[in-house]
Amino acid sequence: MPATFTELLPPTKSAPRSGLRWTPTGPGCGLLVIERPRAVATYAVAEFQTPWEGRAFHLVCLGGQSDAGAESYDVFAARNGQDHRCDCKGFSYGRGKPCKHVLAALALLANEWV
Ligand SMILES: [Zn+2]
Repeated sequence: MPATFTELLPPTKSAPRSGLRWTPTGPGCGLLVIERPRAVATYAVAEFQTPWEGRAFHLVCLGGQSDAGAESYDVFAARNGQDHRCDCKGFSYGRGKPCKHVLAALALLANEWV
């Protein structure tokens, strides 16, 4: 049974209390669970190479995501701490504000879990 790590995510308006669980399955890979008050979403995460200055992760939706039609997201955590990106609707509607996927990726990096 692989170890699972837990962390709180910074509060946002839509999710004042949320957290994540991370179960590493290999280098740069793992199972990510984002727990929010009304939804628990699970993703298979795999880091991939990016020419951009930062780290990039492919998140495959395994269920519970707020956009029921979504299959996967590409998430980019910029080294400069500003130019993060995500494919999800929440990110495009948020006008550059980090979505939960960006926040989760930043938490994985901050904890040196990936
Ligand atoms: Zn997102």
